[in-house]
Amino acid sequence: MSDAKQIIGNIDCPVCGHEMPVKADKNGHAYGHCAHRCNAQVFTRNDHRDGLLRKAMRPVTVSVPLPEPTPAVPKPSHAVGAAPVPPLPTGTPPVQQPAGAKTKANWFSPVLGGAKHGRA
Ligand SMILES: [Zn+2]
Repeated sequence: MSDAKQIIGNIDCPVCGHEMPVKADKNGHAYGHCAHRCNAQVFTRNDHRDGLLRKAMRPVTVSVPLPEPTPAVPKPSHAVGAAPVPPLPTGTPPVQQPAGAKTKANWFSPVLGGAKHGRA
């Protein structure tokens, strides 16, 4: 910020019409330098023209980019990771339990313990 010329405004370049940034020289006088393509320079050199140029220029508006509102991500209807419970098979007769089954087995018991022993 020491020697970097700060843009204090913008005017339309009188030569090419492009936006010309206005800066202040070391004496505080506004000047413009078209950096677009024509390199035209506008110097005020005194307080009178400096005041005129400063009145004519558009002040620099510091544009702070506002954070874009994040688009609403559709949430999954069910929590990820929770295994869906398979529905009970309909129309299929339940696997016959061997006689003398001690506890009332759930429908998935044959799947879990079916390989223990052969059929009695
Ligand atoms: Zn120009």
